Amino acid sequence: MSNPKCSARVFQDFRYYGCERSAKVDRDGKGYCKQHDPVYIAEKQRAREQAWDLKFADQAKAADRKRAERECCEAMLGDNFQLAIDLARYALGRSDVRPERNKP
Ligand SMILES: [Zn+2]
Repeated sequence: MSNPKCSARVFQDFRYYGCERSAKVDRDGKGYCKQHDPVYIAEKQRAREQAWDLKFADQAKAADRKRAERECCEAMLGDNFQLAIDLARYALGRSDVRPERNKP
């Protein structure tokens, strides 16, 4: 590696400077410190996105269980007790099977 310093530019005190750390990895002929390694940055970004996806999947599931509570009440008022029981199980998290709304 010809340049022992990291190739990244960092913004500090309202201007850009070359990163002062020594290069630890070579990516396409440019050296980077661990913090500015493009592969490391991409892996961190991917992990962050996966964590967000999991969080939003949990929130969507919770919102659907909340909707099932209301549908359970409506099924009871419509004398559809089997659907009400299935919806109650789903709403309380005792079943992962989402009952169909227009079940006879
Ligand atoms: Zn750096």
